[in-house]
Formats: sequence, structure tokens, C-alpha cells
Amino acid sequence: MIDHAQIQQQALSYACPEDAFKDRVILVTGAGDGIGRGIALALASHGATVILLGRTQEKLEAVYDQIKAGGYPEPALAPVNLEVARPQDYEELATLFEREFGRLDGILHNASMLGELTPLEQYGYETWESVMQVNANAPFYLTRAMMPLLQKSEDASVVFTSSSVGRKGRAFWGAYSASKFATEGLMQILADEQENVSSIRSNSINPGATRTNMRALAYPAEDANTLKTPADIAPAYLFLLGPASKGVTGQAVNAQ
Ligand code: NAP
Repeated sequence: MIDHAQIQQQALSYACPEDAFKDRVILVTGAGDGIGRGIALALASHGATVILLGRTQEKLEAVYDQIKAGGYPEPALAPVNLEVARPQDYEELATLFEREFGRLDGILHNASMLGELTPLEQYGYETWESVMQVNANAPFYLTRAMMPLLQKSEDASVVFTSSSVGRKGRAFWGAYSASKFATEGLMQILADEQENVSSIRSNSINPGATRTNMRALAYPAEDANTLKTPADIAPAYLFLLGPASKGVTGQAVNAQ
């Protein structure tokens, strides 16, 4: 039995073989920009058929074009606004994916919104609800709807995106922090329910400070050039989403 420290080390030092994701179908949310875009490209370049889910069609199309131009497996587009999508919409998506692919070998729950950085006593009610909808409710709806498709995979990996404020609460981080605690909870519940019952495993990843729009919004004075890029942190994602971590479940991993 390998322990958490060993898993963490393996994730950080993972050198992903070129064809590690051959014949794997992986759904990535928030795939049009930032970390989601970077990991979708990394997955495709290692052979995955990636389903690109996001709210801005043009951004998804740009990632689609980049993957095609690289000569990698043709991705699929799933334009969905997670803030307004209802459970029925996710069920319909599952029907579409079932018809197109027959199964799912992984989900990266990556899309999130930051909300406000403000004390709880002033935190906007509507912002709270939007953040919880996108960051916590949507991953639940999506996972629940995709369970039958994940069960058809021999090695399905569900990865939830956390944050350092999802592991320890921090002043002013409001709904974002609370939603990331919910994310860790979802991950643990799914891992505990599926262990020894199915091939579905569930882990969380904290990307750490990464050069994206969300990071710039949260830390406007920071020099972005000092930060890791999405491509720099890809090894831990490829480790958790792919065959290298078969059997690993219930783990909260850091990408840096
Ligand atoms: P980002 O640059 O803001 O990208 C977020 C992605 O999520 C975008 O593609 C965005 O789509 C999509 N998205 C947002 N709201 C959506 C909605 N309602 N429906 C569908 N898609 C939606 O953020 P990021 O920094 O890459 O963050 C990725 C993940 O890492 C998040 O879970 C974040 O909490 C976590 N994280 C990031 C850092 C960091 O330093 N960057 C640190 C800790 C954790 P559009 O582009 O169309 O808006």
C-alpha cells in the first residue's frame, strides 16, 4: 500500500508516456481558458479524446482547432453555462456522450468562478449562490449524470479541482473557499462509495498559484511571470487522470 506522500511525489514527478491516454475519453470543464485549456491540450497530446466543456463557444473552438492542428484525436465540444444548467441538461449531455462515445474514462471538474473577495458580513447573496452553483452544485450534477458512463470504463478517474482555501478557510474568500471545501467533500464521498465497488476513483487537485485570468483577478498586483503556467502543472493532472494512478482514490493532491 503506497501512502499519501508517495502518491504526491509520483504526481509531481510524473513523466507521462506519449500514448498514455490512447482510447480514453476525458471530459474537461472550463476547457476554453486557463488551466482547463492547458490540461485539455496536454491530454489530447497524450492521445485522449477530450470533451471540451465550457461556456464560451469561441474559446472552445479555438482549443478544438489547436488540438486538430496538432494532429491529435478529434475533440468534442460541449457548450454549457454551469451557472444556469439544470440537472435535466446534464442528463441530456450524458445521453449524447453515450451515443457518441459509449463511456467516459475521466472527468476533470475544473471550471470555477472566483466571486467576491469580501468579508462574510458584506458578501453578496447572489454572488454566493452563483459561486456555489458553478463550483459545487454543477460538479455534483455532472458527476451524478455521468455515473452510468463512468461505470462502463475499466479505469475511470474523476478529478475535482480544489484550492489551498478549500483545505483551510481564509478571511474574505467567502463562497469560493466554502465551495472548495464542498468539492473536497464530494471527492471523499465518491471515493468512499465507489472503493471496492466499481473501477471509479476520485481525487482532488490543488493547482497552486498558476498564471491564469482567475489568478490575476485574485492577485492584481502580482507579477504573473513569476507563476507556473498550466503546462508546467500538467504532470500531476496527467498522473491523476490516467493509468499511472490506477487504484489511487480519496487523495487530495497538490500540483506544485
Ligand atoms: P480561469 O482562467 O478563470 O478559467 C476558468 C474556466 O472556467 C474558464 O474556461 C471559464 O470559461 C470556465 N467557467 C467559469 N464559469 C463557467 C460557467 N458558468 N460555465 C462554464 N464554464 C465556466 O481559472 P483557472 O485559474 O484556470 O482555474 C481553474 C481551476 O483551478 C478552478 O477550479 C480554480 O478554482 C482552480 N484554482 C486556480 C488557481 C490559480 O492560481 N489559477 C489556484 C487554485 C485553484 P470562460 O473562459 O468562458 O469564462
